[in-house]
Amino acid sequence: MKIKCPKCKDVADLSPDFAFVKCDHCNLDISYGEYVKYVAHSDITYSDILGDYTVSTEGHTAGTLDEWD
Ligand SMILES: [Zn+2]
Repeated sequence: MKIKCPKCKDVADLSPDFAFVKCDHCNLDISYGEYVKYVAHSDITYSDILGDYTVSTEGHTAGTLDEWD
């Protein structure tokens, strides 16, 4: 699937099995684990890519919110 490259901000490609991320524009070629760490450190707004890790739970009292307190 297509995702935003964390390095050059162009379109990168995430393999269907979530094994690796490749970008033809800047020759990025890293594992998905590295990619997650990369984006988590470089820009917090990328956190929506990380799936169920949501930052938009303000105002809600969902049980999972407690873990982030
Ligand atoms: Zn790139």
